[in-house]
Amino acid sequence: MVHTHNNNFEGLLEKHHLKKTGPRLKVLSMLSAKNVATSQPDLESVMSDIDRVTLYRILSAFEEKGIIHKVFDLNGTANYAMCSSGCGEDHHHDEHLHFNCTNCKNVYCLDELNLPPIKLPKGFKPEGFTLYATGLCPKCSKTA
Ligand SMILES: [Zn+2]
Ligand SMILES: [Zn+2]
Ligand SMILES: [Zn+2]
Repeated sequence: MVHTHNNNFEGLLEKHHLKKTGPRLKVLSMLSAKNVATSQPDLESVMSDIDRVTLYRILSAFEEKGIIHKVFDLNGTANYAMCSSGCGEDHHHDEHLHFNCTNCKNVYCLDELNLPPIKLPKGFKPEGFTLYATGLCPKCSKTA
């Protein structure tokens, strides 16, 4: 579940023609510091100096640019995780397995587990696939 992160956040923003603002850099460093996806409420609680609307805008801009992707957890809450380098503006390739831990509620991006090609019946035009697994993460299964 190790992302190949580009830790040059300023360069990342530049590449996507986004202004280098403090809040944007903060969001990037927060999301890439964790190996689990982070929910918006979690981000809010850490970045109390940024209002909710600003944070929402930052997240949607990042998602649009292919910097982060959204994953839903078991409660239907949106979580955000860094994208792999294969993602770009208006196209995401985050078709990897997402593991929802039923104990700690963490959402893990298992980048190394890519979805097999799925052929849908005639007439269906998919825009994306999401595969979720639920259960205990390594940390929780050890203590269980
Ligand atoms: Zn992506
Ligand atoms: Zn867990
Ligand atoms: Zn992911």
